[in-house]
Amino acid sequence: MNKRPPLIAGNWKMNGLRTGGRNLARSLAGWLVETRPAVEMLICPPATLLAEIAASTVGGPLRIGAQDCHEQTSGAHTGSLSAAMLADAGAGVVILGHSERRRLGEDSALVAAKAAAALAAGLRPLICVGETLVERETGIAAQTVTAQLRDSLPPGIAATDLTIAYEPVWAIGTGRHADGATIAEMHALIRRELADLLADGASCRVLYGGSVTPANADAILTLPGVDGVLVGGASLDTESFKAIAMAGGA
Ligand code: PEP
Repeated sequence: MNKRPPLIAGNWKMNGLRTGGRNLARSLAGWLVETRPAVEMLICPPATLLAEIAASTVGGPLRIGAQDCHEQTSGAHTGSLSAAMLADAGAGVVILGHSERRRLGEDSALVAAKAAAALAAGLRPLICVGETLVERETGIAAQTVTAQLRDSLPPGIAATDLTIAYEPVWAIGTGRHADGATIAEMHALIRRELADLLADGASCRVLYGGSVTPANADAILTLPGVDGVLVGGASLDTESFKAIAMAGGA
């Protein structure tokens, strides 16, 4: 099923000032060129660092993404960034629907509108879905993720422009990753839904995210239906992120 190399994506969240961010990106970009692991790598720094990091890595294999965008193209939206601004700064991808934004009230309809705006600006959406602990414990994890997936996709999106990340909310930043059976089951569910929703659904990458570290990356990346990982905390440490990439490229 894995036709393409795994995608190892880093979500820096609200972390990184210019010097540290520049050094982290430069170290990764240089290492990628030297080592050529059999993976694709993406980093999503804060928007303040996008232009500088994108300029310093242009032409190389390290891909650069943003962490969110507004659904409108321009206007009176103080503090927000349009997809075109992020593309102009050098992003090629944008994370949408992260649980840290959904928990602020962002629903799947808004995620779909943002994804449509991203596509119109030439950005590829990386859409996050995942259940809370209460939803898992009450037996509605599959129902929750199915609904998020169906409602977060903009009309007409091609699977090749889309990446999905299955990120159980209870696994994010907790040090408690989902077990192999759960990940395989949820990825199979997402793949069935994508096949149903999109003409070319099988060509969409599905990543796992939630407390991925060098210690568990190999076991997660070799599970059926896992096309890569979305990494938060461990992506801020160069050696850990490289070790995760090596697990994917082994
Ligand atoms: C994330 O923020 O998407 C994430 C998966 O974080 P962490 O790896 O720290 O759990």
